Amino acid sequence: MDRQESPAELSEIIDSIDPEEVIALARALVRIPSITGREGEEISRFMASWLEAQGIPSGTQTVGEGRANVYGRIEGAGSGPRLLLNGHLDTKPVDDMTIDPFSGDVHDGKLWGRGSCDMKGPVACEMIAMKAIARSRVKLNGTLIFGAEVGEDGGGWKFDELIDGPGACDLGICGEPTNLELHIGCRGTYPLRLRTIGRATHTGTAYAGVNAVLKMCKVVPALYDLPCFQRSDPIWGRSPINAMVIRGGGKVSSSVPDECVVQFDIRLNPDLPPSEIDRLVRAELARLQSEDPELKLEIHLGREDLASMREGVPASHLPPSDPLVEEVAGAIQEVLGRPPRIAGFPGGCSTAPMLRRGIKSVIFGPGNLEQAHSVDEWIEVAQLYEAAKVYTTIAFRMLVGGR
Ligand SMILES: [Zn+2]
Repeated sequence: MDRQESPAELSEIIDSIDPEEVIALARALVRIPSITGREGEEISRFMASWLEAQGIPSGTQTVGEGRANVYGRIEGAGSGPRLLLNGHLDTKPVDDMTIDPFSGDVHDGKLWGRGSCDMKGPVACEMIAMKAIARSRVKLNGTLIFGAEVGEDGGGWKFDELIDGPGACDLGICGEPTNLELHIGCRGTYPLRLRTIGRATHTGTAYAGVNAVLKMCKVVPALYDLPCFQRSDPIWGRSPINAMVIRGGGKVSSSVPDECVVQFDIRLNPDLPPSEIDRLVRAELARLQSEDPELKLEIHLGREDLASMREGVPASHLPPSDPLVEEVAGAIQEVLGRPPRIAGFPGGCSTAPMLRRGIKSVIFGPGNLEQAHSVDEWIEVAQLYEAAKVYTTIAFRMLVGGR
């Protein structure tokens, strides 16, 4: 039998991955601007043609004016699952950055630039894994799919279009940065918006008014102190509360403000469903009002900056004992030589909508989320190579079998 045609071993496939190529591809992606909501099609076209050049049938999916998702598919022969390696290809804006956002410079062991960590670095690793599997000519029992979408970072997320179309799958890996940990799902959300109502007077008679800002100053710390935000879960940590935006006063100069609005961004661990936090918040507000008859307030749900978020959503996650979690943990251990820390993803990502559709999904990626939304974004290049090997190992274990 010709060497080319013999079934490849995983170790041979892993050895074929060139660490320099992983970095070069990540740099190339960083150098193509794709700010959320106005991504442009250059990034998608570049990725599709790179995949095509590896012999992987690929294409773009137009999802709006100058916006396109991208996909590549390696079809298998058997009845195995369709496994999606996923990420978003849009980035945060670049307004406050002090470095060139699109240089893709590499120094101090880091790749710098907007999207390097969130998440062009991880996406590059997934593309390298696609190449490694395609070039090996190994026979797949199922289908290996790469799919990346636009708009995830707040710009009209086009993930549904991807997953209803060329990214349709049975299992999904989201490559968001987890610092090479394995994250088993996403927290839920509770978009609480409170409005305190005061009574306006001239500052000269401020004692006769009711200051809505001052009332809100009592409410915010009382909610932060709720016991549900203090308890810590070994996998998920604490459910975070964030008074994200505050607005009050200033309607009329030299007057006591009659209104103050706070938009909270509250994230829910699996042990804190929306119905429970709703009950706790309302009970605490009622308690504060019973102590202060002048505290008048309205409770709303929804985000002014995100029209799609109108109500509480529970956490979406797999149990740590799920076979997908065990399989991916095994792949990580095989590459890194140690079992991964199992945690919950601190933010939202595509794993949540996949799980809500009944598609099993976990999150694994290079890079630290703390660098993802920092001013001068970077990713550790050593982690890129490790992640590319892990994605390749996951695909091999799940679609080829044998170790
Ligand atoms: Zn992201």
